[in-house]
Amino acid sequence: MSRYWSDIVSKLQPYIAGEQPRIPGLVKLNTNENPYGPSPRALEAIGQATDDCLRLYPDPAATELRETIAARHGLTADEVFVGNGSDEVLAHAFQALLKHDLPLLYPDVTYSFYPTYSLLYGIEAIEIPVDDRFQIRLADYNRPCGAIIIPNPNAPTGIGQPLADIEVLVATHPDAVVVIDEAYVDFGGESAIPLISRYPNLLVIQTLSKSRSFAGLRVGFALGQRELIEALVRVKDSFNSYPLDRLAQVAATAAIQDEAWFETCRKKLIASRDHLVAELEALDFEVLPSQANFIFARHESRSGAALLAALRERNILVRLFAKPRIADFLRISIGTDEECAGLVSALKAILAA
Ligand SMILES: *Cc1c(COP(=O)(O)O)cnc(C)c1O
Repeated sequence: MSRYWSDIVSKLQPYIAGEQPRIPGLVKLNTNENPYGPSPRALEAIGQATDDCLRLYPDPAATELRETIAARHGLTADEVFVGNGSDEVLAHAFQALLKHDLPLLYPDVTYSFYPTYSLLYGIEAIEIPVDDRFQIRLADYNRPCGAIIIPNPNAPTGIGQPLADIEVLVATHPDAVVVIDEAYVDFGGESAIPLISRYPNLLVIQTLSKSRSFAGLRVGFALGQRELIEALVRVKDSFNSYPLDRLAQVAATAAIQDEAWFETCRKKLIASRDHLVAELEALDFEVLPSQANFIFARHESRSGAALLAALRERNILVRLFAKPRIADFLRISIGTDEECAGLVSALKAILAA
């Protein structure tokens, strides 16, 4: 608290990002980064754009990038909004589209930025409990509300929803904006993008941080009909005209165009995930069914905190959420096969001790 702060500041509950420690040799499985590098074509594009032009402001509308994303998904550029990471896109969506007289609905076990943004923008929110198998029950969202946001697949559980169920949710709430946060959809989920042409209340948000290996570049985007996109543009142009710099725009464009690299990396990751799940189940872990680049798992006889600490001693970092219902689950990002094997042998040693 400080007498210099505005009223809201002391009431905020800022999001706590996963650690980024600078420890050599650390196996970092805590923030869902992709173990494979970004597209070499994207890195080359950054090299080519790194010249005297950087004295000039970038295209405030990121036109080429938006056209590239639109073309990939059969949309038009005015149905695409881009921002500095999907966290920024989400923040604009909360302010522009999710604040109404009736409450915003989201799951009780979900991305912890949602309550943070709700507090920041003064949005009344109701958390809808997931069931005892940590599944989102979309029927529970049939209640008066101003808007709905859910990740699909959900985080940190990794559990996905079939597209048909998402369509029912969107169709039964024609007066409420429904945001589907698809940060992990490329690892086995079903995207709601094909529904956009039929539902003016649907906004789909994706990121280049996970499946395009570009967490360090900070690029995310939203797809929806023009009315929704215009709301985001109005907020963005009241906040920061240039959220994406020149290098981010060219690199993101090249990354989206490099389908071959994208396919190779995500298939490798899905195979590693399925292998790791089998190995952990053999060690008596309960692993929730994951369609993401991470798994959420607990052990029948060890607490999450004990496992986290023991792994950390062996230079392996995973994530834990000290929240009711999920405090014993470890969220483990999928690394290379070598990293996954290191994790499994560390866990074997820990459990044998
Ligand atoms: C990682 C993540 C994001 C945001 O990622 P950015 O790096 O800001 O693009 C958004 N939603 C969920 C559920 C995530 O896990």
